[in-house]
Amino acid sequence: MADAGSWFDKLTTNGRDPTLPFALSLSKGRTWQDGLRLRASAIGIDLSGSERAPTGVACLDESLVVESAVVRRDADILEWVSARVPQVVAIDAPLALPTGRCCAARACPCARFGIVREVDRLLARRGHHPFWTLLPSMVNLTLRGMALRAIFEGRGLCVVECFPGAVQDILGLPRKQRGLGGLRRGLGLLGLRLRQDATHDELDAATAAYCGLLYLRGRAEVIVDGGVKFVLPRPGCFRSP
Ligand SMILES: [Zn+2]
Repeated sequence: MADAGSWFDKLTTNGRDPTLPFALSLSKGRTWQDGLRLRASAIGIDLSGSERAPTGVACLDESLVVESAVVRRDADILEWVSARVPQVVAIDAPLALPTGRCCAARACPCARFGIVREVDRLLARRGHHPFWTLLPSMVNLTLRGMALRAIFEGRGLCVVECFPGAVQDILGLPRKQRGLGGLRRGLGLLGLRLRQDATHDELDAATAAYCGLLYLRGRAEVIVDGGVKFVLPRPGCFRSP
C-alpha cells in the first residue's frame, strides 16, 4: 500500500475551482486537512441493488468524524440523508443510463446502444475494473441509483456519482476485498475517524463521502456523462508525475 500520509502532507491548497459552489479558497500554506475542517458536509452511500441487502451510509463533517450506519430500505436511506442536510451526496451506483438508452429493457430498440457508459469505459481504461452499467447483475442497482438521484435532486440536493474502489485505487488504499483492516487504516491516515466496528459497506460509504468532500473543495476530477457528475480524486493533487 502506498503511504497515504506522504501525499496527504503534500496537499497544500491555494486555489479553487470557481465552478464549484462550495469550494473554498484556502490560503497558501494551509493543509488540505485544515481546509476540510472549515466547512463541509458530505454523505456517501454504498448502495446495494436491493432493499434486502445492506446499504452503507456515511456522513463526514468538517472534523472528518465519520458517522455511519447500515440501512436497507429506500425510506431509511432518505430519512438518514434528510436528517443531515449534506452539501453533496456521493452515491456508489450508476446514476444514468448509457447514452441512447431510454430504459434498461433488453427487448427495447434502445438496447442497440449497449450496456456501457463512456465513464465505464474510461474507468476500465484506467484499470479500475468497473461493472458495466446495464450488466444484468447491475440493472437493479442502476435503476435504484437513478431513482434515488431523482428524489435527492428533487429535494434540492447536489448528487454526484462515485466509485469507492476507484477512489481507493487512486488514493493508494487497499480495496475492501483485501481485508477491512488495511482499508480502515488507510482511511485513518487520511484523517477519517471511523467507528471501530464499521462494516465494509460503511467503509465504502465513507470513501464516497470523502470523495464528495474533495469535490466540494474543488479537488476532484469531474467527468460528466449522461448529465451525471462522476467524481474521482484529482490524481495531480497527490501523486508525483
Ligand atoms: Zn429503451
